[in-house]
Amino acid sequence: MAKKSPDEVHPVKAFGWAASDPSGHLSPFSFSRRATGEEDVRFKVLYCGICHSDLHCIKNEWGFSTYPLLPGHEIAGEVTEVGSKVTKVKPGDKVGVGCLVGACHSCDNCTADLENHCPQVIQTYNSIDVDGTMTYGGYSDHMVARERYIVRFPENMPLDAGAPLLCAGITVYSPMKYYGLSEPGMHIAVVGLGGLGHVAVKFAKAFGARVTVVSTSPKKEEEALKRLGADSFLVSTNMDQLKKEQFTLDGIIDTVSAVHPLLPLLGLLKANGKLILVGAPEKPLELPAFSVIMGRKTVAGSNIGGMKETQEMIDFAAKHNITADIEIIKADYLNTAMERLAKGDVRYRFVIDIANSVADIYRETTQRK
Ligand code: NAP
Ligand code: ZN
Ligand code: ZN
Repeated sequence: MAKKSPDEVHPVKAFGWAASDPSGHLSPFSFSRRATGEEDVRFKVLYCGICHSDLHCIKNEWGFSTYPLLPGHEIAGEVTEVGSKVTKVKPGDKVGVGCLVGACHSCDNCTADLENHCPQVIQTYNSIDVDGTMTYGGYSDHMVARERYIVRFPENMPLDAGAPLLCAGITVYSPMKYYGLSEPGMHIAVVGLGGLGHVAVKFAKAFGARVTVVSTSPKKEEEALKRLGADSFLVSTNMDQLKKEQFTLDGIIDTVSAVHPLLPLLGLLKANGKLILVGAPEKPLELPAFSVIMGRKTVAGSNIGGMKETQEMIDFAAKHNITADIEIIKADYLNTAMERLAKGDVRYRFVIDIANSVADIYRETTQRK
């Protein structure tokens, strides 16, 4: 539990959309944020992506949600104020914040630019900040974060379609790099064609891989092949299709958000192949020992990426014209969007137009007066 309520210590009024219980419902929420500290960057939020982790969290599916919970960790906007020690950005610059807003900055992980693995990591929402208050995410009118956690948007990177890269992008980019799957000529499968999966296809193609999409949704085949540039498409329940690509893959990026069988996926890997889990189902997955023993296979995981690598990822994306395919919504559609996301009905990321949603609320309240 947070030791202090934000209003006890925070002077700046803020507004957003939060969950007050695990029903999955979000509603307008007034709160406050801290004044701009000397290492802080304050920015007006223009767009915020909706990650499936937001949905897991508002419903407390992972069991560690604290309410009120204000989600959003794919946050993009424009700098309005910087502290005296800030050198990286200035007012007017286009910036973003992803999943992290703090860490200890002295442990081995932080020293190696892996703040994401710091034992004292502070997540953008549902964490306790250094001042003892809960962190609140990007479904809100503005953000304030330490400069280290601010990502600069390259000139040609749009704020709306670029915002999802701050979580979805880094979550798939980082393991491809770390596990050696970014070498040209790899054969990679992306499992689950949702927010993470569709950008994984784009990054893998940019790395020079041959990409197979493994999906539960046959209707996604045409888009996967024609629009996203995948080389083949397998329906995960069709054993005949899976057999055709048996023992062909160097690696798999598994982005599935729900419990699913690993056995058919492990069967697709070559000897020494790697199955990397990034999807985070609420219940354990079954791992049959023989499926990894035979062929000396690896099953591993990966959690977003550090700040240095996140900047590298967005710069790489800008260079290779990688953005997310998005459906822009206003906040009055948030609860419907969450229901659709739960059913996998999104092409491929919802992004909230925050500025216009806030303007709508402002108009409604002034008209009522
Ligand atoms: P998403 O947009 O909902 O995509 C998930 C995809 O998984 C769906 O589109 C669907 O693809 C597939 N799927 C859903 N239910 C399934 C089932 N029962 N069996 C098989 N496949 C199923 O979600 P997302 O935002 O990409 O996030 C995916 C997961 O990654 C979530 O669990 C999220 O919390 C997690 N995540 C982890 C990290 C990390 O750092 N490791 C970061 C961000 C998100 P098809 O229709 O193609 O089958
Ligand atoms: Zn996320
Ligand atoms: Zn640390």
